[in-house]
Amino acid sequence: MSRLTGARHKTVPIFIPHMGCPHRCVFCDQCAISGHGEFDISCVQAEIETALATLAPDAEVEIAYFGGSFTAIDRSLMLALLRLAQTYVDAGQVSGIRFSTRPDAVSEDVLDALTPFTVSAIELGLQSMDDGVLAACRRGHTAAEARDACRRIVSRGYTLVGQMMLGLPASDADKEMATAREICDLGARAMRIYPTVVFDGTALAAMMRAGSYTPIDNAEAARRCAPILALLEERDVGLLRVGLCASETLSSSRVVGGANHPALGELCYGALFLARMEALLDGCVSTEGRVACFDIPRGKQSQALGQRRTNVRALIEHYGVSEVRVRECDTLTGTQLKLTII
Ligand code: SF4
Repeated sequence: MSRLTGARHKTVPIFIPHMGCPHRCVFCDQCAISGHGEFDISCVQAEIETALATLAPDAEVEIAYFGGSFTAIDRSLMLALLRLAQTYVDAGQVSGIRFSTRPDAVSEDVLDALTPFTVSAIELGLQSMDDGVLAACRRGHTAAEARDACRRIVSRGYTLVGQMMLGLPASDADKEMATAREICDLGARAMRIYPTVVFDGTALAAMMRAGSYTPIDNAEAARRCAPILALLEERDVGLLRVGLCASETLSSSRVVGGANHPALGELCYGALFLARMEALLDGCVSTEGRVACFDIPRGKQSQALGQRRTNVRALIEHYGVSEVRVRECDTLTGTQLKLTII
């Protein structure tokens, strides 16, 4: 079973931009996201070797084929890439192979073909479990197909990672929460959450310019993401990432809208801490002029205070407290808090 997270866990990402994709989803530009152009199989071995040479000897490493629909690419190419990665598993240099793919590309036949390989996780680009959102994004599959794909993956014993998006066309906070809940219910062990970024040249950029789509900004992404993070914590489902990886490409002129902050995950956790702090203060009889002292988990001070102390300012303004103090505490985990009012 994949460990999925942890300081020793490292991924060697091999990008296969748009390979296997039957068409282009309205929001997607994998070349812009990954910063990689055309795929060249003859370079893959060298890419793996170079990446492995930079990793600590005790790192737990997975080779990951990302950026396309891995199980929908030409079968002989898929098998060649799996065989190549498997040689590193067999040599003890790598613990497993993971890849991302589409829900309509994980038939029983595809899963049979994976059997000889050490597949440590299958990342499914689900994006939404709402048929209206899937249609508006021209995903080309239904929520029912996504459910079936999750069940097939889990029933074969593979670690399922769900990838979902926030702020897609026709979506809203309720649909996103329902999507997250369903992905957890379907047995995902971890999630990646991607607030929508609008890339120039995509159908989504054209929709935005025509006025038929309004992207969400960083603050709205954090507001919508916070309750999903709480759900994952409650359900013990790991969070691998919020937002696209910060890269030069993401700060370039290719990005024309959407939630695109280099520390989006921190913003989202900041919003969750604020909501939890507000809930505790709502339960107090009187807060005016008093000091709110929060015990927080160790290492979570910047998230609890909020970026540039925005949470502190919001609490002082809303509850009239004279001061907000935080104290790191070893007995608390995740986003647990304790409040003392003095
Ligand atoms: S979202 Fe996934 S399936 Fe759609 S175009 Fe991008 S890589 Fe392909």
